[in-house]
Amino acid sequence: METAVTATDQHAKSRNIANQVISDLRTRLIAPTPENYTLWYCYLTGEHPELKKTMDQLVTENPDFGSSEMDMLFADFFSADKQHSALDAITRQLIDELKGVFETLSNASAVSSTYGSSLDTLTDALDRGVAPDDLQPALLAVAQATKTMTKENLAMERQLASSSSEISQLKSDLEDMRVQAMTDGLTGIANRKCFDLELENAIQFAEDENVSVCLLMLDIDHFKKFNDTHGHQAGDQVIRLLADILKDSVKGQDTPARYGGEEFSIILPETELQGAVILAQSLCKRIVKRELVNRSTGNHLGKITISVGAAQYIADETAEDFIARADKALYGAKNGGRDQVVAA
Ligand code: GH3
Ligand code: MG
Ligand code: MG
Repeated sequence: METAVTATDQHAKSRNIANQVISDLRTRLIAPTPENYTLWYCYLTGEHPELKKTMDQLVTENPDFGSSEMDMLFADFFSADKQHSALDAITRQLIDELKGVFETLSNASAVSSTYGSSLDTLTDALDRGVAPDDLQPALLAVAQATKTMTKENLAMERQLASSSSEISQLKSDLEDMRVQAMTDGLTGIANRKCFDLELENAIQFAEDENVSVCLLMLDIDHFKKFNDTHGHQAGDQVIRLLADILKDSVKGQDTPARYGGEEFSIILPETELQGAVILAQSLCKRIVKRELVNRSTGNHLGKITISVGAAQYIADETAEDFIARADKALYGAKNGGRDQVVAA
């Protein structure tokens, strides 16, 4: 009896949340797509703490929070699920392909054992000195088995060639997925996951080779105001432009990455703090010089500036501490009036 009540309670609770989701989305003029529904549902239940924290912050900071922010959130929090299902699909295809290969090989082994026993029968008859006329059935059996085996071999060759090309395709799909998982969808530069890995590698290299490594943390100044004035899509264009400038301004071994939202970072291996600061200052200058134009409307959007925090790795500190020091320097640059570089 008690469980029935609990189940009913659970049902009523889900229905209440569902009604609340629909009502919230309607109030905010957000389309009730499956993606938006999922996001809001998880937000209301709080079952995804990181998502809840981010959304609470967004809702407070940006009461006009709408569809484009929802798209960003969905990509951030749920695209990993999409990648998992793509990975599952590839894994399943690979398993099917390998099953096919094993089946072909076991058929081939059955055919070749029939061939072997027909040969044994013939050899046995020859050993026993059977008269040539009486050898005919054994000879016919060998001829038949040879024919079957030739046919099977041909089929097997074809099947193996097709499996091998299918497996190569799956391998390249997996490689594409690996690259995609490390790339930021909006800008095409390294994403946060890639940044985390590259930073660990860069720190390891600095420790092993006893060389310097620096980190820049960059943040667009007053970007909320820019979005509010010119719209989120123009904002996205600026984020892409900034990524292009970063990509264009660094050397081969440096890694520019989208750290999140309108924040970027650059890992600078084998670079001293002074060099990192010079690069950051030249980036600030390059960006502030740029007159922004909305590509779709041709409207002039003015200019943007960025603030940068620079830090040099201190032996034995963790990646988190290193980032925190660069971040602190970034906040120093914001507090100092923005459009500037501060070194930790
Ligand atoms: P500050 O100078 O202190 O950095 O001010 P700010 O307004 O840039 O800082 P804040 O962190 O408060 O706001 C960042 C804004 O950047 C909020 C959000 O609207 C916007 N933003 C974050 N990610 C994206 C994105 O992917 N596209 C667009 N268009 N805007 C974004
Ligand atoms: Mg920011
Ligand atoms: Mg900002």
